[in-house]
Amino acid sequence: MSTAPTYDLGVIGGGVVGSTLALFAQRGGLKTAIIDRGPLCREASGVNAGTLTLQMTRVALIPHAMRAHAMWASAREWLGHDVGVVVCDGLSLAFTEREAALLEERAGKRRAAGAPITIVSRDEALRVEPGISDKILMAGHCVVDGYANAYLTGQAFRAALIEAGVAVMENRPVKGLERTDKGFVAETAEGPVTFRRVVLAGGVWIEPMMAWLGVHLPIKVLVNQLTVTERIRPVMRTVVGIASGLLSLKQYPHGTVVIGGGWQGLGDRERGGVELVPERLVGNIRLACHAIPELAGARLARGWAGLEAETADALPAAGPIPGIPDAYVCGSIHSGYTSGPSIARSLADVILGREPDLPLFPIDRLLKAATP
Ligand SMILES: Cc1cc2nc3c(=O)[nH]c(=O)nc-3n(C[C@H](O)[C@H](O)[C@H](O)COP(=O)(O)OP(=O)(O)OC[C@H]3O[C@@H](n4cnc5c(N)ncnc54)[C@H](O)[C@@H]3O)c2cc1C
Repeated sequence: MSTAPTYDLGVIGGGVVGSTLALFAQRGGLKTAIIDRGPLCREASGVNAGTLTLQMTRVALIPHAMRAHAMWASAREWLGHDVGVVVCDGLSLAFTEREAALLEERAGKRRAAGAPITIVSRDEALRVEPGISDKILMAGHCVVDGYANAYLTGQAFRAALIEAGVAVMENRPVKGLERTDKGFVAETAEGPVTFRRVVLAGGVWIEPMMAWLGVHLPIKVLVNQLTVTERIRPVMRTVVGIASGLLSLKQYPHGTVVIGGGWQGLGDRERGGVELVPERLVGNIRLACHAIPELAGARLARGWAGLEAETADALPAAGPIPGIPDAYVCGSIHSGYTSGPSIARSLADVILGREPDLPLFPIDRLLKAATP
């Protein structure tokens, strides 16, 4: 095909990863288009729990999580729009001896990777967060924690991308991607979009996107469930989790409390749609009330679920696509709302011909493992 490339860079998938990447690439001088089959950040990036956490982040991601936390905390400066970011302390609680041992091990590894996490006594934890149960044995304490209002993410990025001059193409599903001698042609119902370089940033849909280029990259789909309470009087002021990682809890300034922790619902990546499994949510809610006893009096207002991606080794897929010049993949980042902006920024640097100051996660390792 002889279609001349219209854009220097095409980003397919407009979650927090694709949106950040497109923004930094355009600001770096590349004429960039971002295409999403729906509105920007309406999948994982708009329905997540908004926790900006180091305590739940994989050790290898700590440097990115630290940088991304600083990015979120200064969102007004680089994004220019509000995502409701609140920076506060975070506590990871241990109720049993086993959890205490787990906590010490996990906190130790993260501290070695640069996260400011200390182990504090029960009394010290209660001083940091008077709302927690006095039945805890100890806690991990991190002064770099916080949360955002995830549902504001798309709104904020849309405005920033348009202001920067990125061509934002929403509600435009890409049906296929062809490699040509000049670059790539994305096939959409409204006609082809051509670009010299491409980034596949499709969240759980990275796997079918990679198949367009004939590459098999298995991506596991997690169906995370969340609930939110009605507005209640202040019962907590920090982000609270537990050592096992099965709880994430914070109270927003207007009074609602979001309860998460990765308890699984049902969903289907190919056909779309998610379904809550109330029996599984009950465990999550019980745990929340155990951690913050005052929560027991609150009524639930709503529950929902969203799809989160995971590679075979639970580390990101972020780097060039081997064997296909000018094609890149970015996503499948554990706690990806927290770390995604930093990893996307590093990949934008590589595409702009700069040395990234933090490492990427090339997918060669995953492709080798996926070969029969
Ligand atoms: C319920 C839940 C709670 C979570 N809680 C947290 C948390 O508290 N803290 C944290 O750090 N992380 C959390 N996460 C993880 C985090 O949300 C994700 O890691 C992150 O948002 C992924 O961003 P992404 O841009 O890679 O993917 P996505 O946001 O999924 O974006 C992918 C985009 O690709 C688009 N797309 C797919 N197919 C096509 C196509 N054919 N053509 C065009 N576009 C297409 C989709 O429409 C979508 O917008 C949570 C995830 C879930 C689901």
